[in-house]
Amino acid sequence: MEIRTDLHTHTLYSRHAYSTIEENARAASDRGLELLGTTDHFSSMLYSDYTDGKHYQYFYNMNCWPREWYGVKLLRGCEVDIVDLDGNLFGHDINADKGIIDKNIGEADSLYGRVTRKLDYCIASVHMKDFTINASKSRLTDMYIKALSNSKVIMLGHIGRTGLDFDIDSVITAARDMHKLIEINEHSFGWDDNIYDRCKQILVRCAELNVPVSVSTDAHISYDVGRFDYCHKLLESVDFPKELVANRDAQSFISYLPGM
Ligand SMILES: [Zn+2]
Ligand SMILES: [Zn+2]
Repeated sequence: MEIRTDLHTHTLYSRHAYSTIEENARAASDRGLELLGTTDHFSSMLYSDYTDGKHYQYFYNMNCWPREWYGVKLLRGCEVDIVDLDGNLFGHDINADKGIIDKNIGEADSLYGRVTRKLDYCIASVHMKDFTINASKSRLTDMYIKALSNSKVIMLGHIGRTGLDFDIDSVITAARDMHKLIEINEHSFGWDDNIYDRCKQILVRCAELNVPVSVSTDAHISYDVGRFDYCHKLLESVDFPKELVANRDAQSFISYLPGM
């Protein structure tokens, strides 16, 4: 199966990633993708003084990006951290009343609101897991479902890699019923058999319960944009239905964008 979009990729802005948006767009074009989504980290992991809104102006100026580059449609997104068991997202409790040149910019908003208002979509992921210690399975299940219910969030990132013990069926059917996506993440494979088994278990239940997935690379360098080698093998090994790969091309994915 050809997969012609990549909805989870990072640029230099993410600090532990290595390519520019132009390099990623060119790589996407070279690999025959129709659509590239850029989803840099919107997270406390990037800066020790992470409440300073100045760090996030990268997201404020994305209007200057072309909508198409090297023949590839370009989407503006972020990978936002889930920060508590209520499924709240990074920046929801940080005040952001300053713009790019440190001037007050009108109405009050949270950093989450200011950063995401012009983005096309968000992926919600857990990275720093301290807040999940001792959390019950049902709390973790609710956390993922609540995070998904944010209007800009279209997908949960790498739920098979994060290592949280949530109820798979409840989370994936909630995603299906909200017309949102479960991610199968290429970057999760090749280094831990337990993670592979968990991802496979999730994928099998998605097939059985008719839940659409997004197959993403989570590329941190342009070389990896559009390379789905492990995902292809996994999809084939479980004979996953092509119709449930929502991002197999731009047309099959477009209804998942907020406002479409
Ligand atoms: Zn991630
Ligand atoms: Zn990522």
